[in-house]
Amino acid sequence: MSTDPQTPLTAGSILNLDVLFNNPVFAGGMGLAGLGAAAAFGRRAAIRGAGLLKRQMLVNVEISKRDPSYNWVLAWLALPRDNTGFIAQRLTRLRNLSVSTTTKSITPGKDEGSSHADFRVQPGFGRHIIRHKPGVYIAVNREKASTTQTATGEPHETLTLTLLWPHRHVLGEIFTEAHQMAHRFHEGKTVVYTAKRMEWMPLGKPRLKRPLGSVILDKGVKESIVDDVKEFLAAQQWYTDRGVPYRRGYLLYGPPGTGKTSFIQALAGELDYSVAMINLSEVGITDDLLAHLLTQQPEKSILVLEDVDAALVNRRPRDSDGYSGGTVTFSGLLNALDGLAAGENRIAFLTTNHIDRLDPALIRPGRVDMMMRIGEATRHQAAEMWDRYYGDIDADHSGRERFLNRLDELGLFGENNQDPDAPKRHTSTAAIQGLFQFNKNDMEGAIKMAEGLIPRTFVA
Ligand code: ADP
Repeated sequence: MSTDPQTPLTAGSILNLDVLFNNPVFAGGMGLAGLGAAAAFGRRAAIRGAGLLKRQMLVNVEISKRDPSYNWVLAWLALPRDNTGFIAQRLTRLRNLSVSTTTKSITPGKDEGSSHADFRVQPGFGRHIIRHKPGVYIAVNREKASTTQTATGEPHETLTLTLLWPHRHVLGEIFTEAHQMAHRFHEGKTVVYTAKRMEWMPLGKPRLKRPLGSVILDKGVKESIVDDVKEFLAAQQWYTDRGVPYRRGYLLYGPPGTGKTSFIQALAGELDYSVAMINLSEVGITDDLLAHLLTQQPEKSILVLEDVDAALVNRRPRDSDGYSGGTVTFSGLLNALDGLAAGENRIAFLTTNHIDRLDPALIRPGRVDMMMRIGEATRHQAAEMWDRYYGDIDADHSGRERFLNRLDELGLFGENNQDPDAPKRHTSTAAIQGLFQFNKNDMEGAIKMAEGLIPRTFVA
């Protein structure tokens, strides 16, 4: 390369750019680099543009598994099945499905071959596109969080629905439809929730409402509780006006198998409430957990605290390491009933088989407003139960009289025996129900087997 000494020095001449750019290899490289930079810039601009467009044009709704609508929307996505009874129409465009199966035994006590399985197809984890109606598509993304967990220890889940901004109005439709579907599913049914770790979980599938008439308590007992609850429900304004917490507590006590739980479930069905049940004698139920659960109590539910005497005993055999499991203390129970943890709007039923173990401090307005003994079977109950089972084949009630007389003879009405010399013992309504179930449509069989109602402790 030669330089003319007369020519003034310029940057171009020092680097001799002409020569450089005339070099085909260099020019080609520069061209490629330029193209690459332009492509990278273009790509970044496209991504930014797409992001901007996405933000402007799309609408996202994220539903957490903690929200009740999570299950409603999942169920909504699993619309009616096709004629194979398996794949839901709305989901045919989805590739990744999951199946939730519930089985139930048709013949209680028998296994193999007598169970009924119910399949529900729902979107699996991942992304899906569904066609909601002509021209309206929804992207569904069901995700399982790898780090966060629910209180039950399961991974947290979210469901995200994405749709075009101009179609956002269908979201309202979807939630309303999903909610109505869930409501229809629960119609005529009672949901029973129990505490699973720190969360309320439905105990099995919703059960058919139990008619109040199917629970037979002694004369007037059922009516007085039902009337009281209905009066309470109608009096919310009265409580609000006086600044009194809108709460009512009932204590049902008596031996097991007398219909306490069945009555509460039937009452919940009658009022169209669900049941939220905690057994205080369960290991792991502590004061903190009880307080936490009460703050999360499912809406429109009757709170049932079973075995409240467990909170009074508050002692358990310890393991070798000194751990006694969780227990609710008496103050924890009182706090749950009318302390800070207590909800503002609540009907609570407490049950116990050991009234003698309860502390009188429990029986105070706002904690327990009404107490009822649900006792062993009386003549009145045995007669009503007979009518429910054999009323249609025992029109003249002669069978019923023979049955009641037989129970009298066996001394099964305790202190209320018509025969003063008969032994004083009792039987439970659960035992009578068992006898009638065994002798369906066979009243003579029931009378013959009545002796079986004598509690084991009395059998020599
Ligand atoms: P508890 O809660 O008092 O221990 P449950 O309500 O669990 O008793 O009753 C156990 C079973 O016996 C249930 O299947 C229930 O249908 C039946 N049963 C017990 N008592 C009655 C009753 N008074 N009326 C109708 N069924 C009863």
